[in-house]
Amino acid sequence: MSVADEWTAAKDGAAPVAEKVDLLVLGAGPAGMAAATEARAHGMSVLVLDENAAPGGQVHRAVEARLPAKDDQDKDGAKLAAAFRASGAQYRPGATLWAVEPEGKVFWSEAGAARSVRAERLILCAGATERPLPIPGWTLPGVMSVGAAQIALKTSGLVPEGAVWLAGQGPLLWLYAVQALAKGGRIAGIVDLSPPGGLRRAQPHLLRALKAPEYLWRGLVWQRQVKRAVQVIPARDLRAEGEGRLARILVDGVAHPADLLLLHDGVVPNTQVTRAIAGLTHGWDPVQRCWRPGLDLWGNTAVPGVMVAGDSGGIGGARAAALSGRIAALEAGRALGRITTDERDGRAGPLRLLRDRQLAPRLFLDAMFPPLPEAAIPDETVLCRCEEVTAGRVRQAVALGCLGANQTKAFTRAGMGPCQGRICGPAVHGVIAAARGVQGGEVDPFRTRFPTKPLTLGELAALAG
Ligand SMILES: Cc1cc2nc3c(=O)[nH]c(=O)nc-3n(C[C@H](O)[C@H](O)[C@H](O)COP(=O)(O)OP(=O)(O)OC[C@H]3O[C@@H](n4cnc5c(N)ncnc54)[C@H](O)[C@@H]3O)c2cc1C
Repeated sequence: MSVADEWTAAKDGAAPVAEKVDLLVLGAGPAGMAAATEARAHGMSVLVLDENAAPGGQVHRAVEARLPAKDDQDKDGAKLAAAFRASGAQYRPGATLWAVEPEGKVFWSEAGAARSVRAERLILCAGATERPLPIPGWTLPGVMSVGAAQIALKTSGLVPEGAVWLAGQGPLLWLYAVQALAKGGRIAGIVDLSPPGGLRRAQPHLLRALKAPEYLWRGLVWQRQVKRAVQVIPARDLRAEGEGRLARILVDGVAHPADLLLLHDGVVPNTQVTRAIAGLTHGWDPVQRCWRPGLDLWGNTAVPGVMVAGDSGGIGGARAAALSGRIAALEAGRALGRITTDERDGRAGPLRLLRDRQLAPRLFLDAMFPPLPEAAIPDETVLCRCEEVTAGRVRQAVALGCLGANQTKAFTRAGMGPCQGRICGPAVHGVIAAARGVQGGEVDPFRTRFPTKPLTLGELAALAG
């Protein structure tokens, strides 16, 4: 059977895995779908892995179940998904990548078995994750993240019921409130924890942001819509309380009955896989206080053959993600000899201009919505939920001389549970930096190790078959 036949068979559902592909794309969000579609247009064999059940990623989650698309976001997603489906890329949903070897061998688990493939090039489009917002009582049943509630809304149409509170800061909080209200959900109130002076901080970036005024306009409309329907309480201190489950929240000491509390403190690049690849360097973003992989204009990392596109390279939003996916695929095509450097540059030029426009509001938004200060997290708050390590214990470890997250892990077990720091990482790192009185860039983050996701012995054994 030729490689082309194998490819057709895989698309038709028999799903054998070729031994080798030109390009492996991690993630079928906007960046991954666009990268795969562009790469196929230049004749590359492409394998796309995503642990979700359908293409779309976070923003276009389950978009194919909402056809015909009604709003602009769903229209964007439906277009990307249709082009991706028609591209001839081999797409494996329900496939969780857990290791990348230096020579481009990639391992993943799918339907209870581990599999592997060798790829000439990788484009990692793993998206973003929500920054945790640890408050006293956030481990009680009845407290979850805004992102989790949005997944329930997008995949199952579930809207919150009872005394529902949203708390924290960031655009996604307002967007979710709009989406939930539009679906008939009720919200008791929003606790706005954002530091005052947002507009003053963001104002120097206004002129640049106005290159894509629709983002600012949309944000204003969301806030106006929500504020008309829901009470918004600016506050500094928030606690969740209840006996065995959430019963009330304390907002600057004032109690409010609560059945559900949804927390949010912005999103950060998902660097779980990139940080585990030896030699792949990351830089510190002092405004959004997060790590992101060091990339050139094409998405190349410091490791030859490994590229990053979309929000996992820096938060830019869905349209910028799709454009960066296409740009990375053009560079992959050049590196694999499928297109010339001139062709790459000619095709990428207009995409770059479009991407610059999409990214124009970023500095404004980043200054407007800075992450909440970790120094303010009370000592009794659990930071690492898997190992139940509090902020106070992390601060004690710093007082004993721990300088970074990995040392603190050895002292406290923070980050040692099944999530391997995926959830608590930014909070533990931020508490250490604040306790030491230094910038986050001076504190080493949790070192991630392959397998980056839990893997059973049974799955691993399948590799030998
Ligand atoms: C919880 C959450 C909700 C968001 N909601 C919105 C929204 O409603 N509107 C909006 O404009 N922006 C939203 N964003 C921001 C949004 O994610 C992006 O701007 C956009 O989706 C980025 O596209 P992407 O392709 O880079 O990543 P994503 O769309 O996130 O796609 C990444 C994909 O990679 C997959 N993946 C990651 N790691 C692995 C692995 N190890 N193995 C297999 N698959 C993996 C994921 O399953 C996912 O499908 C949200 C972000 C988060 C974190």
